[in-house]
Formats: sequence, structure tokens, C-alpha cells
Amino acid sequence: MSVSATRAVAAWHVRGRALPDGEPIEFWTDGGRIVDEPVAGARSLDVGGTIDDTWILPGLVDAHCHVGIRFGGGGGESTEGLLEQARIERDAGVLLLRDAGSPVDNRMVDDHPDLPRIVRAGRHIAAPKRYIRGLPVDLDDESQLPDEVRRQARAGDGWVKLVGDWIDRAVGDLTPLWSDAILKDAIAAAHDEGARVTAHVFGEDALPGLLGAGIDCIEHGTGLTDTTIAAMVDGGVALVPTLINIATFPEIADSATRFPVYAAHMRALHTRRYDTIAAAHDAGVPIYAGTDAGGSIRHGRIADEVDELRRAGLNATDALGAASWAARSWLGCTSLRAGESADLTLYRGDPRGTDVLRAPAVVMLRGALHPVP
Ligand SMILES: [Zn+2]
Repeated sequence: MSVSATRAVAAWHVRGRALPDGEPIEFWTDGGRIVDEPVAGARSLDVGGTIDDTWILPGLVDAHCHVGIRFGGGGGESTEGLLEQARIERDAGVLLLRDAGSPVDNRMVDDHPDLPRIVRAGRHIAAPKRYIRGLPVDLDDESQLPDEVRRQARAGDGWVKLVGDWIDRAVGDLTPLWSDAILKDAIAAAHDEGARVTAHVFGEDALPGLLGAGIDCIEHGTGLTDTTIAAMVDGGVALVPTLINIATFPEIADSATRFPVYAAHMRALHTRRYDTIAAAHDAGVPIYAGTDAGGSIRHGRIADEVDELRRAGLNATDALGAASWAARSWLGCTSLRAGESADLTLYRGDPRGTDVLRAPAVVMLRGALHPVP
């Protein structure tokens, strides 16, 4: 057995404060799992301060990123490149990712125990010329949508990703990609497969059809209004705003000189982004942190998104929960429970301070420390 493999199953004694309540907790890890009774020979996992200075999270979650989209140019990333994307997230303390669509199969990440867990949405589903070229499965006719949704549901890990709206160059503005009727059939097909559905939506007009069809989550959501926010609350629909991606809307507008109505629309959505997200939060819409890394956003920026959620009005505990324990629960994972995989991050200081959050003192995944000491 190699030295690193021996260390991977080393036993550790973990003590510190846990969130959301800040109370001290104590547990052990053994063979990569959390146990609630002392383990003989367990070493103390020490971040250099007192127990009061040591804070424990069940790791961070990036609820919207892409492992397999090449940064900068779009398109598919190489295997080596996408493994590096996952590694960058892990080193930032992100131990669970929801992949919101990848043009290449990233299933091989699951063969690397040193890389984060991924919950996949298969490939984006769009129509020709109605999304970033090279990323989605393009359907020539929307009648194909329910069957494609079933295919992507089977290819993924419980999520399907639709492109809900995009610029229509013939119109010169954002418009919905799908009719209300086909969305009902498509989302019913996903639910029949046991998958949840989410959609990329920047503008206002695609939201009523998606929400009326029973969608489970909205990505971006900059076009939410009081009416569609109320529909989200009624349906228990989650929102992943990806505010650090919304921050790029002015650049998108600057580059769209041929489409002045679209450019003005994107600028307006950007201007009111914090008010929109705050209104959704105040109304009770569950909000989770996603960076949209891959493509135009670099990996490893979850702390920036937590910062942005605070700017949008979430308190420090809710903003961090949106990127940790609350997001884990939404994605079907428990947090720091006996018997579960020892996935956790430790901080010297309260990670609700974002400078602390940026620099985890310990990243433990499946019981192994990263970097390996
Ligand atoms: Zn995305």
C-alpha cells in the first residue's frame, strides 16, 4: 500500500464549531467515514487555534458549474483539463458540484476519489442557433423535446438542463425557446424518469411557461417579477442566480451592437439584479450558490458568489448555507452524519467571513486530506 493510500484511511479526531448554529461538535473519521465514537489511534485534526477558533463545514457546494466546458473559448474541454477544473474546485473547499450541462462526458471524474462528487444534468438542450455554439444538443423541432429530456435524464444524475431563453437574432431580443405545451410534456417526462428539471433563463417571458409546466429550479432568474416569484414560492422552485456570471451582462451588451434592444434589456436585467434576487429571497424562494464556472467564469470562485449573495441581501449564515449545508440537503446529501463519507472543510475562524472562506485550513474528501500532508 502506498503512503498516500495509508493516509487516505487514517483516523482523525475532529473538533470545532459547526453551522448554522455555531455550537461545538466532535466526531472521528475512520476508513474515510464519519464515526461518532472515539477511534483508537486517531490523530487530532488541528488548524492551529483553539476549538473555539476552529469551524467545520460539510464542504462547499457549487450548485451551478460546468466540468468540461473550456474556459475562454467555450466548447468541450480535454479530459486532462476537466480533471484540473474539478481539482481547482476541491482546493477551494468545494466537495459537491452540480454540473449544469457539459458537452463532453465527465463521468471519469467519478473514478478519481481525490476529486469532488458531481451531480450531473447531462447536456444542455436547446434549438439551433439558440445557445452557445458547440455546447447543447440542438433540436430541429420542439416535438423532439420530451424524448431528448428522457435521454438526458438517463445520462445524468437526476437533473435535466433546458435552455429556456436566448437571443433570437430575427427578433433582436431574448425570447423563449419552447412553447408552454411542449414544456408540460417534457417536464412530465423528466419527472417520470425520476429527474428534476432546471432551465437557463435571463429574461421575463420564458418564466411563466416553465413554472406552469412544473419546473424544479431556475438558473440566473434575472427576469423574475412579483408574479413569477409568487409562482416559484407556490411550486417550491429553487433559484441559482450565479451572480458572478450576471456581472458579465454589461460586457455581453457591449458586444451586441447589432441588437440594441437586446443590449438594453441585458443592461436593465443587470442593473436590477440585486433587487430581483432580494425580492425572491424575501418571498421565500430557496436560493443556492452557483458560480457558472466553465466558459466565461474561472473555476474556484465559490467564495465570490457567497459575497455576491450577501450583497443581494442574504445574511451571512444564509449566504454560506446556500453554498454548503442547505445546498447539500437540496441535492440529496447529508452533512457530517455518522456513517457518511468524511467530506469536510475546516477553517481557522468563522467562515461566514469571506476572507476566511477563501482559505480553508483543511480540505478532507472521503477521509483523505488535500493537499496530502
Ligand atoms: Zn451555466
